[in-house]
Amino acid sequence: MTTKRREFLQAVGAAGAAAALPGCATMGGSSGKVVVVGGGYGGATAAKYIRMWSDGGIDVTLVEPNPEFISCPLSNLVLGGSKTLAGITVSYDNLARRHGVKIVKDMATSIDTDKRMVKLAGGGELPYDRLVLSPGIDFMFDKVPSLNNADAQAKVLHAWKAGPQTVALRNQLAAMRDGGVYVLSIPVAPYRCPPGPYERACQVAWYFKQAKPRSKVLILDGNGDVTSKGPLFKKAWAEEYKGIVEYRANHVLTDVDVATLTAKFEVQDSVKADVLNVVPPQRASAIARSAGVVTTNDRWCDVDFLTFESVKVKNVHVLGDSIQIAPGMPKSGHMANQHAKVCAAAVVALLAGQAPNPTPVLTNTCYSFITDKDVVHVCSVHQYDREKKTLVAVPGAGGVSPAMSEIEGLYAFAWATSIWADTLA
Ligand SMILES: Cc1cc2nc3c(=O)[nH]c(=O)nc-3n(C[C@H](O)[C@H](O)[C@H](O)COP(=O)(O)OP(=O)(O)OC[C@H]3O[C@@H](n4cnc5c(N)ncnc54)[C@H](O)[C@@H]3O)c2cc1C
Repeated sequence: MTTKRREFLQAVGAAGAAAALPGCATMGGSSGKVVVVGGGYGGATAAKYIRMWSDGGIDVTLVEPNPEFISCPLSNLVLGGSKTLAGITVSYDNLARRHGVKIVKDMATSIDTDKRMVKLAGGGELPYDRLVLSPGIDFMFDKVPSLNNADAQAKVLHAWKAGPQTVALRNQLAAMRDGGVYVLSIPVAPYRCPPGPYERACQVAWYFKQAKPRSKVLILDGNGDVTSKGPLFKKAWAEEYKGIVEYRANHVLTDVDVATLTAKFEVQDSVKADVLNVVPPQRASAIARSAGVVTTNDRWCDVDFLTFESVKVKNVHVLGDSIQIAPGMPKSGHMANQHAKVCAAAVVALLAGQAPNPTPVLTNTCYSFITDKDVVHVCSVHQYDREKKTLVAVPGAGGVSPAMSEIEGLYAFAWATSIWADTLA
């Protein structure tokens, strides 16, 4: 067994991932240039696996402006106070050192898909044979007009991209008086990480229970009901956080009053907060528009699920939160990692003149922290259906926790450590 093959098998095992692979782990004979835009869960994984599975034959350049990877998964624990930002930050160094990925610390500003060229904010240009876009999401601030400027966004935070806003929201919560109200506005689905807002409510409630017991968490959900793990979250709010968390459905946010921290809704009365946290509606990140791959509702990118190549633009693959999801598929880091492996295998095969695997299978597990230790999960398996030409959830192959438990807390931390290693080590 070659070292590369052994490394690959270990990596797949470590992530518990059953992403679709071609018949062999590496494919000698693949060559060419791949540019990956975005070093998050999708892009970093794709960059590493294309290098590994082509036995170093494909030249891979990863474009990412951030100096380090900061994980959204576990970032709600920073709000609760049981984790720090440093504890969810991972270096990009191993991608370059161990895998030979060329890392360019820059922002892609436009894509010329005819010339197959990526233009960078710093003035450089990168040619490609195949382009992989995993740029995540942009916020549709035009749907919350008063938030459509930098000053307002510095006061009413989203903290829906882990980083400085996560720390700033934690500071707002720490500065809030005991007896204050934290209001969390959730957009209508689809949005990044369906259970994430409800986990956030639990983490803030956990913090209030320890440090500010007279304070309240008010969830104002644009959806008609909790969109993921509903019975488990509702049980936690009724029991663990009785008298702290209140949930209200059907609250579609139309605007905010930034000066008074007031949220305004389509139908319901306005609500004033002490800390107002708005998760705005989302769409594929701007660079996807430049590449011309946004196809659904002027928001998301449709892909061929055998390769994750855009249905509209040849040689451009799109991963992660930017895509128009298949039925039952969440916008999650685990899913982005799985998209990346299917795409990496396909890119390696295509650049070697071979057909991609016709039957990919992807898995997903999303853990949610109810307290600092007690966790619940939802998991699913998604298999390619040749007739429907999409990925479908395999009946009976997934499920949810019967109840929160500390053992699942250990699994959740192990999941995070494994997927960070699988993506970046
Ligand atoms: C609070 C919270 C909790 C979550 N918890 C979980 C969880 O427990 N489990 C789970 O699986 N998922 C979770 N998620 C969801 C997960 O974070 C996302 O689904 C995942 O990050 C999507 O991966 P991605 O590659 O599409 O985007 P990202 O990981 O966001 O990566 C996009 C990258 O692209 C870069 N980029 C953007 N535009 C450009 C450009 N023009 N040029 C260069 N680079 C660019 C960005 O800097 C960024 O690094 C959570 C999300 C949140 C907000």
